[in-house]
Amino acid sequence: MSNEPKVLLKISNLKQYFPVGKKQVGKPQAFVKANDGISLNIYEGETFGLVGESGCGKSTLGRTLLQLYRQTGGRTVYYGRTVEDFDLKYVEEIFKNLPEKKKKCEELRAKAQKARKDYEAMPDGIEKKAAGQHFAELDSEAKNALLDITALIGGLYTLTEHELAEAGKHYSAEYLAMKEIRKINAKVEELEKNGKAADKISQLKSSIPALEKKVQEELAEIQKIRDNCSKSGEFDEYESQKDNGINLANLTDAEMRYLRRDLQLIFQDPYSSLNPRMTVGQIIGEGLQAHGMFKKGDPKMQDYIMEIMEKCGLASYFIHRYPHQFSGGQRQRIGIARSLAVNPKFVVCDEAVSALDVSIQSQIINLLLDLKEQNNLTYLFISHDLSVIKYISDRIGVMYLGNMMELSDTEHLFAHPYHPYTEALLSAIPTTDVDSKKESIILEGDIPSPINPPKGCKFHTRCRYCTEICQNVTPAFEEVEPGHFVACHHKLGVEE
Ligand code: SF4
Repeated sequence: MSNEPKVLLKISNLKQYFPVGKKQVGKPQAFVKANDGISLNIYEGETFGLVGESGCGKSTLGRTLLQLYRQTGGRTVYYGRTVEDFDLKYVEEIFKNLPEKKKKCEELRAKAQKARKDYEAMPDGIEKKAAGQHFAELDSEAKNALLDITALIGGLYTLTEHELAEAGKHYSAEYLAMKEIRKINAKVEELEKNGKAADKISQLKSSIPALEKKVQEELAEIQKIRDNCSKSGEFDEYESQKDNGINLANLTDAEMRYLRRDLQLIFQDPYSSLNPRMTVGQIIGEGLQAHGMFKKGDPKMQDYIMEIMEKCGLASYFIHRYPHQFSGGQRQRIGIARSLAVNPKFVVCDEAVSALDVSIQSQIINLLLDLKEQNNLTYLFISHDLSVIKYISDRIGVMYLGNMMELSDTEHLFAHPYHPYTEALLSAIPTTDVDSKKESIILEGDIPSPINPPKGCKFHTRCRYCTEICQNVTPAFEEVEPGHFVACHHKLGVEE
C-alpha cells in the first residue's frame, strides 16, 4: 500500500436491522440488529479482515456493503466510480428527494440539539455518560443525513425548493452533454483502433466543441444559483466535503445492478454456489454476458474464459465439464474465476476457504493473494479463523454482536490488543509452542440474543473486566493510537 491510500469505501454508521416475527398491534416490532452502527474506511488495494464468532454480523456486513441486503441506515460511499459515469436517474433522484431529505435532516438536528441540552444539564455520573453517548449517536446520525445531502452537491443545502429544482435541471442537462461527449470519444477510439473511417471520425469530433460549450453554460447557471443563495457558515464545512463518491445505500436496484460488476462476492460453500446443470464455461460466461462484456455466442468469450481459468489454476480444457466433476478446491477456483472474470474492484470473500481441507486452504489463499496483486483488487476477507485472517489481512476488524469492537493494522492488533474480546480470541489460537506461557481465556456464557442485546457494552455479560459503567454506557469507538480503534471503557494496558 502507498503512503497515502485512497479510500474505496467509506462506511458511516451502517445499520442493518432485520424484523423478526409479525408486527402486532400495540407492540413495537422486534429487530435483529445484525449491524448496529458500523463506521470504517476500506482502502484501495488492501485486504481488510473481518473476524468474530459466528452470528456476530460479519457476513451480514459483507453482503450489506454489496447491497445484497439493502441497509437500514447509514451511508456506504463507493469511490470506485464517479457520479459522472453513472446513470442520469441517479442525479435526478438526488434532486427529487432533496426536500424530503432536508425535512428529515432538520428533525434529526433538532433531536440532537435537545439531547445535547439534556446532557449538559445533568450532574456528573454514569447517567450523564449514557446521555452523552446518546447525544453523540444522534449527532452523528444528523451529520450523516446532512452529508448525504451536501456531500454530492456542495453548498446547496440552503436553497429553496424552487432553486433546487432549477439546479437539478441544469445538472441533468450538463450530465447529458458530458455523457454524449464520452460516448463520442469511445466511438472515435474504436474507429481509430480499426484504422478506418477517417471521415466519420472527423465528423464525430466536430460535434464535441458545441457539447463542451453546453457543459460550461450549465455549470455557470448552477454557479449563479449557488452564488445567490444565502450561505451560512454552518454549512461551509460540508461544502468542502463535496465529493464524487456514490452512496450505495441510495441506489435503486437497477442502478445497483450496474455496479454489481465492480463489487463481487466469493461464497463460502463451493458445493451449493455452483449450478450443477451448467458447465464451467457457462458458469463463468453468465456474468460476462449479464454485464455486457460479451454477446452470446461471441467466439472471443471462450478464449477469455479459458484465459481466466488458467489464471485461477484450472486447466482450460475443463471448460465443458460440470461442477460435480471437480474437487472442493477446484470448485472454489471456479467460484473465484466466476467473480473475477468481470474485472471487479472490490471482492467480499465470505469464509472463502472455511469449507476446504487445511491442505487446500493455503493454495486458495495464495491464489487470492496473487490475483489481488495482478488485478489491483481490494478484499473484504471474512473468517472466524484468526490464523487465516492474520495471514491474509493488512488490517483487521473484530466484531461482536453487530458492533465493531476493535480495528487496527494486523501487526498492531496481534502485538497489542486493547479490547478484552480481542484478547480472548487471540488467546484461543492454537499454538505449536509447547513452552508457550500463553494463558487461554475461556469465554464464559453464550453470545446474547441480538434481538435483545445487553445494555451498555454488548460484551459485558462475558467480560472479565466488567464494571458498573460497562453495564450502562455504550463505550465509544475511539482511536487509541493512529489507526487503532477500540470500543471499551477499560482498554487493556491503558492507565485510566
Ligand atoms: S467496556 Fe467493559 S465490559 Fe466492555 S469490553 Fe470493556 S471492560 Fe469489558
